[in-house]
Amino acid sequence: MTNKKVKAYVKKKRTPEKKIIEELCSKYNTINVTKTTKFSDLPLSRMTLKGLTENNYVDLTDIQKQSIGLALQGNDILGAAKTGSGKTLAFLIPVLEILYCKQWSRLDGLGALIITPTRELAYQIYETLRKVGQYHEISAGLIIGGKDLKFEKKRMDQCNIVICTPGRLLQHMDENPLFNCLNMQILVLDEADRCLDMGFERTMNSIIENLPPKRQTLLFSATQTKSVKDLARLSLKDPLYVSVHEHSMHTTPESLQQNYIVCSLEDKMAMLWSFIRNHLKQKIIVFFSSCKQVKYIYEAFCRLRPGVSLLALYGTLHQLKRMSIYESFCKKQHAVLFATDIASRGLDFPTVNWVLQMDCPEDVNAYIHRAGRTARFKSGGESLLVLLPSEEIMIEKLKQRKIPINMIKINPSKLQSPHRKLEALLARDVALKETAQRAFIAYVKSVFLMKDKEIFNVHTLDTDAYATSLGLAIPPRIRFLQRIQKKMSADNSIKNEHEETNQISTNSPDNSEQEDSGDSSDTSCIPNTTNRNGGKERIKKKDLASLQFDDSDDDDVLTIKRKNIDIVDIPIIEKDDKIVNKKKRVTKVALAKKILRKNIIPNKKTTFDDEGQELIDSTKTKMSALARQYENEVDSGINIEIAKQILREEDQFDKKRFREKIREKHREEKRKLKAKKMEANDEEEEDASLPDKINDVDNDDVSEDESSEGPDISWLPDPDKIYGKQRNTDEEASSANEFEENESEAESVVHRPSKRKLVTQEEYKRIRKKQKISNVTYLQADEELALQLLQN
Ligand code: ADP
Ligand code: MG
Repeated sequence: MTNKKVKAYVKKKRTPEKKIIEELCSKYNTINVTKTTKFSDLPLSRMTLKGLTENNYVDLTDIQKQSIGLALQGNDILGAAKTGSGKTLAFLIPVLEILYCKQWSRLDGLGALIITPTRELAYQIYETLRKVGQYHEISAGLIIGGKDLKFEKKRMDQCNIVICTPGRLLQHMDENPLFNCLNMQILVLDEADRCLDMGFERTMNSIIENLPPKRQTLLFSATQTKSVKDLARLSLKDPLYVSVHEHSMHTTPESLQQNYIVCSLEDKMAMLWSFIRNHLKQKIIVFFSSCKQVKYIYEAFCRLRPGVSLLALYGTLHQLKRMSIYESFCKKQHAVLFATDIASRGLDFPTVNWVLQMDCPEDVNAYIHRAGRTARFKSGGESLLVLLPSEEIMIEKLKQRKIPINMIKINPSKLQSPHRKLEALLARDVALKETAQRAFIAYVKSVFLMKDKEIFNVHTLDTDAYATSLGLAIPPRIRFLQRIQKKMSADNSIKNEHEETNQISTNSPDNSEQEDSGDSSDTSCIPNTTNRNGGKERIKKKDLASLQFDDSDDDDVLTIKRKNIDIVDIPIIEKDDKIVNKKKRVTKVALAKKILRKNIIPNKKTTFDDEGQELIDSTKTKMSALARQYENEVDSGINIEIAKQILREEDQFDKKRFREKIREKHREEKRKLKAKKMEANDEEEEDASLPDKINDVDNDDVSEDESSEGPDISWLPDPDKIYGKQRNTDEEASSANEFEENESEAESVVHRPSKRKLVTQEEYKRIRKKQKISNVTYLQADEELALQLLQN
């Protein structure tokens, strides 16, 4: 450091914080956007600058250049810039600086609220804030669903910056007495258009209601909302629209090479498999429209072993798993991530080479965000959109929005179809087959529920061929479609009857004009759909509502696009509330969930004895203390090591029960045998001329003897099979078999057919005579005798 620099540094050190802040704030109004190229050109605190330089953030990106200054001046901002252009820092830096300038402390509570649509994105922003803001004395908290709510609740009042998802935030607002946002200064919505769209509408409205009206609001997205309604909801004050790429040639990054192919539904699997096999040394994200598809393709492809790591990220996964998958994909050099749209917004996975959209995105915005997971911040990348012939119109829509996309053709000879292998897999594995069936239905439903009926037409899908391509030999029944069709045909016939009566009464010669007239007053129709025969159908919104909520065979249809939000316990239903509530059927899944939530153990029956003591059925309950403790503790997942130990312990109880059962059986047999014997003796005495049946039996034919006279032990498992073959009885004592070693007692009672030296009836008689057993005590003696014999 030169002398001059040291002096400046010392001077700065000595200057009171307040003065530094005043100096910084005075420069805000003189920021010249054209002259600022580096972060150091901006009047930023030394802590922020240090955090930035240490993380190699030196030059400003366009959106940062345009918006940071305006935000520092206290404006409400609508920031729009392409994917991967650095919007995160464009709002994080003002947040840090504004709170710093207000000398925000722990006691001031919540100063800034950053809301994002997905948990992973919230986590990513939190990590960036931790890096850039590490030298500030401002605390930050990540408040997302799937994490420990109690822990969050306790810490909430200590957070100055909260990064959250809408559902979890509302939960804190409703339930947490420590949550207080009265002092809040800045509200940021990242991926603002998504936060404000239908999926979060109710949650966001409730959140906004709770926020102080006097605040600064920053909205950022690559597809920024310009909807007056949205802006009115947020009560923005003269917001400045900062759109840095508004006049650029393309809406998507220049370094993004975009392609599409037209592919029949049944070839999609082969296409994907071949693509992965041909790009083993790449990092790829593959988007599907539903969780169930992702789950199936992931599980099936894992079994087929393509030669590259596969990962899957979707909303129904456990949060910890989601996080570990997210982090693992970030770190991997070559991998394929199958994902739903939860991964489509904001996530900044490093060095992704390819983005594949296996199912057509719901609209152009969804396309832009999915494709934007590659070619981020100066790096290159490619994207491939897979369209059905019926969806080709999507290309026109993309081109209208200045998205350059080129058609490429598949070489059919290069396609490797995995469907034979999949078929074999599914034949062996019922669970996988069910996953495939669910994936199939989920896809059809997703197409059915897409809003843009110009692109999506469920009736053009060759569902049978699609099922085959998934490895399903028999296409699953698409019950929801059948139900809808039935309903529509019923409606049509009523309408026709009505029209006929009308026709008769009005005596009209021609009714062809009246095809749609009955519906014209009901404006709540989704656009026309064309059926396979070219006929037009109109599906009423009411039908759609009932479909969305009462279909038990596939419960997440509506949520296909919305599953990735944290509003599990907040009903999303809006205007049609009444209709939906009336029609809502209680599904088994819902019941099960309810029971789980209440911690009730289903089908549990407790029996008590006369004294009121609980009788424990050892066949149904875990006996070992360890198992009971484990059952009480673990709420999800399996700890393999503990499970093994529990199995071992439970095994001891099982063996004991098994031995007791056998002992009882033997006693019973002995009793029967004895009774028979006594009868035979009586008869012998009475009629000495009758041949002795027992004496007729050949001594060698022990097994036959056993089968005819001995106890029926066919129901017992072969102990040799279970415990390993015994060499001979002498060796048995020293056998390493765990069962024998642990339970020497078992030796004497476990019946082993045909291997043992058995006693014939003759011998039995002899011994009985020798022992001169009295008739009164014969039962006891018999038992002892049997045990002795078996020990021999
Ligand atoms: P967006 O939100 O616009 O999609 P991000 O904020 O996620 O983009 O930034 C994309 C990538 O660019 C991130 O990896 C981020 O670290 C990097 N980045 C952002 N701003 C800068 C900068 N000024 N200098 C260098 N890298 C930057
Ligand atoms: Mg972003």
